[in-house]
Amino acid sequence: MDKTILQFAPFLDEQEYAALRECFDANWLTEGPKAREFLARLKQQIGFEFGCLAPNGTLALYLGLRALGIGPGDDVVVPDFTFFGSASAVEMTGADPIFCDVDPETLQAGAEHFESALTPRTRALMPVHIYGMACPIAPIVELARQRELAVIEDAAQAIEVFYAGRHAGTFGDVGCFSFFADKTLTTGEGGLVVTNSAEIQQKLLVLRNQGRTDRGSFVHEALGYNFRMTDLQAAIGLVQISKLEEIKRRKSRILLRYHERLDPIEEVRFISLTPGSSYVPFRIAIYAQRATDLMRHLELQNIQTRTFFYPLHRQPAFEPLRRKPGYAGRLADEAFPGAIRAYENGVCLPSYPGLPPEDLDTVCDRIIEFYAGR
Ligand SMILES: *Cc1c(COP(=O)(O)O)cnc(C)c1O
Repeated sequence: MDKTILQFAPFLDEQEYAALRECFDANWLTEGPKAREFLARLKQQIGFEFGCLAPNGTLALYLGLRALGIGPGDDVVVPDFTFFGSASAVEMTGADPIFCDVDPETLQAGAEHFESALTPRTRALMPVHIYGMACPIAPIVELARQRELAVIEDAAQAIEVFYAGRHAGTFGDVGCFSFFADKTLTTGEGGLVVTNSAEIQQKLLVLRNQGRTDRGSFVHEALGYNFRMTDLQAAIGLVQISKLEEIKRRKSRILLRYHERLDPIEEVRFISLTPGSSYVPFRIAIYAQRATDLMRHLELQNIQTRTFFYPLHRQPAFEPLRRKPGYAGRLADEAFPGAIRAYENGVCLPSYPGLPPEDLDTVCDRIIEFYAGR
């Protein structure tokens, strides 16, 4: 077999091409009419009061944290099982990320996980909605209210994901989304910050546009930066929104087929859904016996696999945290049995809206062969 079965590929066609051509025809590349329209469509789709676009999900989190006033001397609790960007955004503000464990069945951190990681310096919680389902967000927000902490939701993987009928990312003080190439809706690179607070929105607008709310003026009242997107990206995003139903349908069909083929395999188990959450499978995430050997077997047959996230508390990049007073004990493996079990036994299988059904079946055939010892 010489063809590679990809882990992921974006779902693009002629329509995105045509939308880009419209930008060239209008001779307008920077954030403008397409971006305004994209934001308005996102508002309809997600249901937030205020929002602004950002260059990517990591910077959306950074902007959100800064708008909440997070900075040096503060701690922000972040699940140990998430993409690196959740925590690097915290570090970028000068605050420290404090990691909490997750439930290995759902891969989500719940209120009890956040609570056990609180420090006297904790100012905010960052619930992350992982792998296309919501974390148990309502009890986390409740905990934050009791302790007078801010909540910034990392909903990078949670477009079209609902908890108790409400869109993920709209429960906390701030919610952040990513439109990276492997997210449910992509603009290549891109991000979104949402809030229901006019006061936070004002801070976001100032921060993202060089300290002013008006463009075209050279008087900067406050310190801000450039966190804008381009109209080229927004044009792609607008087409992607119109395809969301199709994308979700395809993702669900892929999950269903994987279940049909792999549920009978004793050595394979799918992750569980958080009660109250909808599901737009972001990854096909399974627990597999002899996971490393299985991945090697599939890679040898040109099938791309991914491990689950590497626990943040073990990241070499966060090694300097160990030298902070009182911090070392917080990074011990013993505190993260859920995240470690997930990393050591999890496998992500190829999944993307355009995955040919026969390729999906080939992946399943190879997995079944592997456990049959052939
Ligand atoms: C993708 C992702 C991010 C970062 O988004 P970028 O757009 O890649 O910067 C942050 N958190 C999670 C959970 C993600 O999946």
